[in-house]
Amino acid sequence: MIELTEKVQKFLAKKKHHLYIDGHNSESSIEDNIPVINPADETTIGYVAVASTEDVDRAVKSSKRAFHPDADWRKMLPSDRAKIIFKLADLIETHAESLAQMVTLENGKLIKDARSSDAGGAAHTFRYYAGWATKIEGETLDISQKQRGGQQNFAFTKREPVGVVAAIIPWNFPLSIAAWKVAPALAAGCTVVLKPSEETPLSALMLAELATEAGLPPGVLNVVTGDGTRTGAALSSHPEVSKVTFTGSIQTGKLIGKAAMENVNGVSLELGGKSPAIVFDDAIDLNAVAKGVAAGIFRNQGQVCVAGSRVYIQKKIFDKVVADIAHVAEGMKISHGFDESADMGPLVSQSHWTKVKNYIDKGEQESKMVTGGKNPMDKGYYLQPTIFSSEDNKLSIIQEEIFGPVLVAVPFDDMDDAIAKANDNIMGLAATVWTANVSKSMKMIERLEAGIIYVNSPVRSDPNLPLGGFKQSGIGTELGKGGVYNYTKLKAVNIVY
Ligand code: NAD
Repeated sequence: MIELTEKVQKFLAKKKHHLYIDGHNSESSIEDNIPVINPADETTIGYVAVASTEDVDRAVKSSKRAFHPDADWRKMLPSDRAKIIFKLADLIETHAESLAQMVTLENGKLIKDARSSDAGGAAHTFRYYAGWATKIEGETLDISQKQRGGQQNFAFTKREPVGVVAAIIPWNFPLSIAAWKVAPALAAGCTVVLKPSEETPLSALMLAELATEAGLPPGVLNVVTGDGTRTGAALSSHPEVSKVTFTGSIQTGKLIGKAAMENVNGVSLELGGKSPAIVFDDAIDLNAVAKGVAAGIFRNQGQVCVAGSRVYIQKKIFDKVVADIAHVAEGMKISHGFDESADMGPLVSQSHWTKVKNYIDKGEQESKMVTGGKNPMDKGYYLQPTIFSSEDNKLSIIQEEIFGPVLVAVPFDDMDDAIAKANDNIMGLAATVWTANVSKSMKMIERLEAGIIYVNSPVRSDPNLPLGGFKQSGIGTELGKGGVYNYTKLKAVNIVY
């Protein structure tokens, strides 16, 4: 068992956690708290405040003050902005173990994943975007129109920060997804009000403290905790927010998109997925494929937006590959997140567990269960890695995002059949293709409706790889160099002389 760091012990000893506004903890105006539950043992590890509409307004106004042209943050050279963001990346690394432990406590995920994906991923992302702060540029333009009176001209574009950014995030990667939004927004020179998920708010509060320690001026990063219907809705509809950046479910994304449009605000939506893994009978090494497909769905208990939750397997090898994946699944050790030898931890919450279990029950009725389906523990929100097989691509377990450790295997005949089945979904976030044939994989890349495609590997995110959804999986692209431009607006200028 891992011993909690002194920083985590001190943080948890507070029990009640306030909002983070203007560089310090700030009480909410309402007497309402949300318990933060450790999903491994169902204990309450703390309570967070609910930010009311009034508190959200206070946070937005604080970020607006920090964005004023005379404020320190706006007057800072890009290189000085970069220094602070680099320092924050360093501090995340220094406190990586504490941040990872906090994520494991609030989310349940394995400590090794919290270390690599959350703490490690956040440090990489802040460092990556720190470098972009000094590389934001416009263009000079030759224009077709003659100037009045035979005068000459000089036309150019310049990029400016959009203003106050509202960042609303989910619980599955609480720190790394916070970094995907906060890091490029800061690099662009914006200020941010971050609303973490009500399930995983503590690591975001820790991040805000580190940002202040790194030298971020007060108000440049505020954190409002609370639920979606009160805090999230107040933030996404706030008229002084200039851009809403959201990651979460399609259902919430639609509400947020409408709220942002009411104010004619910029909005980017990173939404759900039901991503296919397509295994051809010429795949290089079928054992490696089974491990890769299993990792693609069961990592983080299947609570990954790009999880390969439908596997299409060419008919000739269908039974073998399904048996091989089931073998990997059955060998996975399920335990609490602090067990370093575990392969899977608990799901995030009781309500999410129930949602996933309902899909499993439905799957049992409408298709063939190959393995899994049960909670093997007495306490905590655990589920075995579960596999179904079916020939019917229209089943709800194949069409809807379950966001849990549930894989459905479907056979296919040839490339056309694989493409048709893979694209037969309202979502289009990611896909993986498993084949030794380069020209086949290139054809698949051209025809698959997905924002990110990996060949011969499960999908992994990287700060320099853009991530964005096709179809209902979202609007806009996050990460990569375009990630920083999401938080800028383009000004066109023509000097006539
Ligand atoms: P969710 O939509 O329930 O909640 C996400 C956030 O929105 C939370 O902070 C929540 O409090 C807030 N919210 C809820 N209702 C709101 C409202 N009416 N107005 C404003 N804010 C509101 O999603 P979740 O269950 O936390 O996360 C899981 C979902 O996130 C899955 O669908 C998953 O695919 C998706 N996801 C997508 C990506 C991506 O990059 N595309 C990455 C990770 C997760």
